[in-house]
Amino acid sequence: MFQKILIANRGEIALRVQRACRELGIPTVAIHSTADADAMHVRLADESVCIGPPPARESYLNAASILSAATITGADAIHPGYGFLSENADFAEMVEAHGLAFIGPSPAHIRMMGDKIEAKSAMAALGVPLVPGSDGAVSDLDAARRIAAAIGYPVLVKAAAGGGGRGMKVANDADEIEEAWRTARTEARAAFGNDAVYLEKYLDRPRHIELQVLADGRGQVVHFGERDCSLQRRHQKLVEEAGSPALSAAERDALGARATSALAKIGYRNAGTLEFLYQDGQFAFIEMNTRLQVEHPVTEMVCGIDLVREQIRIAAGQELGYGQSDIRFTGHAIECRITAEDPETFVPTPGRVTAFHPPGGLGVRVDSALYAGYRVPPHYDSLVAKLIVHAPTRDQAIARLRRALAEFVVVGIKTTLPLHQRIVEDVGFQRGDYTIHWLERFVAGH
Ligand code: ADP
Repeated sequence: MFQKILIANRGEIALRVQRACRELGIPTVAIHSTADADAMHVRLADESVCIGPPPARESYLNAASILSAATITGADAIHPGYGFLSENADFAEMVEAHGLAFIGPSPAHIRMMGDKIEAKSAMAALGVPLVPGSDGAVSDLDAARRIAAAIGYPVLVKAAAGGGGRGMKVANDADEIEEAWRTARTEARAAFGNDAVYLEKYLDRPRHIELQVLADGRGQVVHFGERDCSLQRRHQKLVEEAGSPALSAAERDALGARATSALAKIGYRNAGTLEFLYQDGQFAFIEMNTRLQVEHPVTEMVCGIDLVREQIRIAAGQELGYGQSDIRFTGHAIECRITAEDPETFVPTPGRVTAFHPPGGLGVRVDSALYAGYRVPPHYDSLVAKLIVHAPTRDQAIARLRRALAEFVVVGIKTTLPLHQRIVEDVGFQRGDYTIHWLERFVAGH
């Protein structure tokens, strides 16, 4: 097992990883920018190293500084969390070249899945169904017009290197394809330094359903069921559930069997999430994330498993030690992503938190790095807390969520807590029959 783990992240996910390390008896090294000197993940770490100024590219994305911090503190492994360098194959390679373990998949798999065009063709070759679309990148406008007409409008132009919902544009008809194709490429070039785009049929009422997998790289691949992440704004998830209100156990088992056998064939290792759109009883693969997801806690609650602990064990070369038939699903879990944003306009609201009172009680989990007196810096992602509830049934989980949201107090900055309170009161949400377009309409209607 590792002697010391450097956590190359900040905020709630740095704390989340620290907690798993502490329970395994492994000391941790926190890294932080000058803006985060007072952050909770620094306060709770065994050691900490300042790695640069506030802008992420000079600190949390600065591979050389992070590797130096690992070297001088004697860490023998790096956990990247999510975001930042977590899906950067070059970084994973550098970590390994320095003789450290990267707690994640192999650089080759990160690279393969990081290019969505390559990921789709790899999955198609393994028999996983895809959303109908272009066969690879579409590099000129004439081809875009031709392929869009063949797929049938509306179509979505998507960046091969995309992430976080960026570089994605809808064309409703032939008049809109030029504009969508050009803006998607411009956005992709600016955000990812890669303007390769492809086309997909724009589905009108899908759900976003994703599957959590773990593989030990020694032949054992298991899945931990699905998460329904259909409640999105601007293609970004806001509320996630395990399991999906729309899926039967038989559908889950069939999807899981197909996905795990595909990943076994490519020799995948560590945690991963396969994302699908689900409409009219059909699944279509859209992408795979080769890291821990923000919404992983809902899976942990229904499966009674610590995914970060498993990631660390696998990276240390241990076998999973259990199989698919050992994994049970108990009850229902829901997560709300609470951000430092105005709940009406979604304008970020960094600033000083003067009071913080998280909810508690049976079946309530709060993953947050907030504390009273903390100043939320303006430089990073606005996620400040995740509220996760777990209960025997979905209805009980909703009742618990309503109760926990009412207890939750954050004073000093605006947060999206009031939005979550409105969602939980909505009968459409309560019925669970929403699609990926539901939340945009809900937000627009208020
Ligand atoms: P990113 O990597 O930027 O998150 P994804 O490919 O995962 O991009 O898609 C993000 C979200 O965009 C999906 O969860 C879904 O809501 C929407 N989306 C993606 N592809 C399609 C599609 N073909 N039709 C309709 N919605 C889509």
